[in-house]
Amino acid sequence: TIRVRFCPSPTGNPHVGLVRTALFNWAFARHHQGTMVFRIEDTDAARDSEESYTQLLDSLRWLGLDWDEGPEIGGPHAPYRQSQRMDVYRDVADRLLDAGRAYRCYCTTEELETRRDAARAAGRPSGYDGHCRELTAEQTEAYQAEGREAIVRFRMPDEPITFTDLVRGELTFTPDNVPDYGIVRANGFPLYTLVNPVDDALMEITHVLRGEDLLSSTPRQIALYKALIDLGVAKEIPAFGHLPYVMGEGNKKLSKRDPQASLNLYRERGFLPEGLLNYLSLLGWSFSADQDVFTVPEMVERFEIADVNANPARFDLKKAESINGDHIRMLDVKAFTAACEPWLRAPHANWAPEDFDQAAWEAIAPHAQTRLTVLSEITANVDFLFRREPVEDEASWQKAMKGDPAALLTTARATLEAADWSSPESLKEAVLAAGEEHGLKLGKAQAPVRVAVTGRTVGLPLFESLEILGKERTLARIDAALA
Ligand code: GLU
Repeated sequence: TIRVRFCPSPTGNPHVGLVRTALFNWAFARHHQGTMVFRIEDTDAARDSEESYTQLLDSLRWLGLDWDEGPEIGGPHAPYRQSQRMDVYRDVADRLLDAGRAYRCYCTTEELETRRDAARAAGRPSGYDGHCRELTAEQTEAYQAEGREAIVRFRMPDEPITFTDLVRGELTFTPDNVPDYGIVRANGFPLYTLVNPVDDALMEITHVLRGEDLLSSTPRQIALYKALIDLGVAKEIPAFGHLPYVMGEGNKKLSKRDPQASLNLYRERGFLPEGLLNYLSLLGWSFSADQDVFTVPEMVERFEIADVNANPARFDLKKAESINGDHIRMLDVKAFTAACEPWLRAPHANWAPEDFDQAAWEAIAPHAQTRLTVLSEITANVDFLFRREPVEDEASWQKAMKGDPAALLTTARATLEAADWSSPESLKEAVLAAGEEHGLKLGKAQAPVRVAVTGRTVGLPLFESLEILGKERTLARIDAALA
């Protein structure tokens, strides 16, 4: 059965690249009724943080991505935090050393640099040159007597490594390009290069799906895997698939430090988890030639790693928002109403939490649902209902008040006062009639009314808005505008 893993390092805030990787692994596992393993790669105490760990868990839960083994729920290969598995790695490193598949390297950083520069100048490969590969017992003793400390280095095979990437097809790496590499620091702490494949082996991972930035570590991991198989630690080399880069603005790789890449930003702006997942799934994959809006279960049903495209994917915020807007419209109105409430109940300028009016909100919500791309836009759309005074936006005012709005507003106030307030139709008639008196079509006549009442030139359907705001408050705002 298929076993995949999502194994972030808890550094910084979750970003969209990370979520895309989690999503593709998850969808692949769910599609094949496989197992999703969530592992925390926290072996770098200097960079990892508990806060980032908590955020990762929280983000996955918010997105609705679940896991079958991992933190908080455990599983047959627990613990799933690498910081709690140090003795496992120490043991494997010792066995690699004993079997001669790894060796101690005493080269200092300065020595490595000097030799690297010389190799470069001579046009030779500039990776590790194998200096400590075959040290004699005397040489080793001499280095130790000097007080040098050793890292553990993995011995790469001298033949090329070929594998079939699930996304990119067959790839070959020659030994020149993949020199021996460090797996344990001089202070005894194991490195990513060791712990990641060791855990993949012990946790019996069958498919490694991860970002293209990790492609260069794959030949190393395959070689290490072969050594682990010889030692009886691993059973089989997993299949690897590298997901394409995500390009941001200016066709540059979207970096995790890019503000556009922060997952929290999308949450705060009011993306729905399903809208964001829909969009992120399109970064390297497509649902069908003519449909790019779909639900998460629909994605799971179709998702195949073979359909992932190797070409870089472009991150397009506008498209993400438009897809999210479609998902907002797919909500039933009750769910939409509830989803917006945190934004409306939050503290606002000129609008106290007790000014929030549940009945008015429920009445206006269906009109707002058709308009939003992200939930945070709800505030500007409905604040006229809750604010004690409408937004004072001088620019809108000037724009809507070209000509002589006072005359129109005075008439509209009178026709609105006389109107039947039980239906938006009669309010429309009232504004239409006021416009006719001044030779204005409906559009021109309603603009000053909208600005006077809501403070804005654009917004939700006006007559429904007026009806929900109510006669008294509508007339008071027109009076204020005329004063
Ligand atoms: N902890 C690694 C990272 O976050 C995982 C890489 C991998 O999937 O192998 O980059």
